Amino acid sequence: MGKKIIIIGAGISGLTAGIYARIAGFDAEIYEAHRLAGGNCTGWTRGQYHIDGCIEWVTGSRENSSLHDIWTTIGALTDNTEIFLPEEIVSTIHEGKLYHLHSQIDRMEETFMQLSPEDAPVIKNSSNTYARNNISKSP
Ligand SMILES: Cc1cc2nc3c(=O)[nH]c(=O)nc-3n(C[C@H](O)[C@H](O)[C@H](O)COP(=O)(O)OP(=O)(O)OC[C@H]3O[C@@H](n4cnc5c(N)ncnc54)[C@H](O)[C@@H]3O)c2cc1C
Repeated sequence: MGKKIIIIGAGISGLTAGIYARIAGFDAEIYEAHRLAGGNCTGWTRGQYHIDGCIEWVTGSRENSSLHDIWTTIGALTDNTEIFLPEEIVSTIHEGKLYHLHSQIDRMEETFMQLSPEDAPVIKNSSNTYARNNISKSP
């Protein structure tokens, strides 16, 4: 009989460790305290709404990114998975006015400038960093 790995916790890390253990030829047993697997990475339905507990911004959804291989190996991302990159990532009301956090850098900069024009140098610097690192693209 092969070696067995005991994994504590069936969050996405534990489940991933279990899959990789099996791929590497080990037996694996995962112990989970909750009645459901998934940990933080879970969702639930309440009334007519489905609430995603987390993973709004799936790091590793971009092909060739370091996490992408892991997501595909464990079956979380497939060729048919639709990646939705909205133009407005977050919307919030501040002092009675509605602001959007945009995925487009120039529009995001515009919003920050409206909110805090005195921070212009820092905002410009952040925009340049975002642009340099392609942060506005699928992560
Ligand atoms: C509101 C929110 C939004 C998020 N948004 C994003 C996002 O947009 N993009 C992104 O990439 N990440 C996001 N994250 C982070 C992401 O959800 C977590 O990094 C990830 O789910 C953590 O997985 P994990 O398996 O490491 O830990 P957990 O999900 O915490 O899993 C740990 C598991 O171990 C179990 N456990 C703990 N102790 C024991 C024990 N002693 N015995 C047995 N079982 C035990 C727990 O019940 C749990 O199921 C978000 C998190 C939250 C809370």
